Amino acid sequence: MTNFSLFQGDICRLPVDAIVNAANTSLLGGGGVDGAIHRAAGPELLRYCRNLNGCDTGDAKISLGYRLPAQYVIHTVGPIWRGGAEGEAVLLASCYKRSLEIACQYQLKTLAFPAISCGVYGYPNGAATKLAIAALVDGLSFNQNTLEQIILVAFSDQMAGHWQAALAAQNLNWSHY
Ligand code: ADP
Repeated sequence: MTNFSLFQGDICRLPVDAIVNAANTSLLGGGGVDGAIHRAAGPELLRYCRNLNGCDTGDAKISLGYRLPAQYVIHTVGPIWRGGAEGEAVLLASCYKRSLEIACQYQLKTLAFPAISCGVYGYPNGAATKLAIAALVDGLSFNQNTLEQIILVAFSDQMAGHWQAALAAQNLNWSHY
């Protein structure tokens, strides 16, 4: 049984098995949560990511967490919002599902997600969080599931409200992390 928690703050502080990074296709760092993760993990992360040959939108790749309290980082690339008719929803769902798959391959127990595509990539935040929770519930039912806790991370009050609404829409019990 996987429990859901909500954490408001910097994902880089979480001492979990893995944090998910909302990266870009280069995997060479960027702004937002990606920049924060690279700064906190240190230059070893960038050095390792140079060998990953980037990542397609909707896919995910794993690295160590280096100087982060998290053991691993799962780098996934969300879609850029272009109005909703360019496969954005399928790609965003795929980010969550691929991240879950990798977490289960590595037999991880605790995994934290930021709100992928909800910053610079401009995905409408209410729709993105609803889709995220639905994709996670779906993915958890498919994987040989080792996950005990999924932590949804909000960087703002507004995003915390979106996560709460999305959890409620799926009738999920959750706790504050
Ligand atoms: P994207 O390019 O996928 O939109 P962003 O990093 O711009 O990614 O934003 C994704 C979400 O992560 C946004 O809701 C943003 O507020 C949030 N965010 C930014 N920095 C952090 C952080 N250090 N910890 C957790 N969430 C963060």
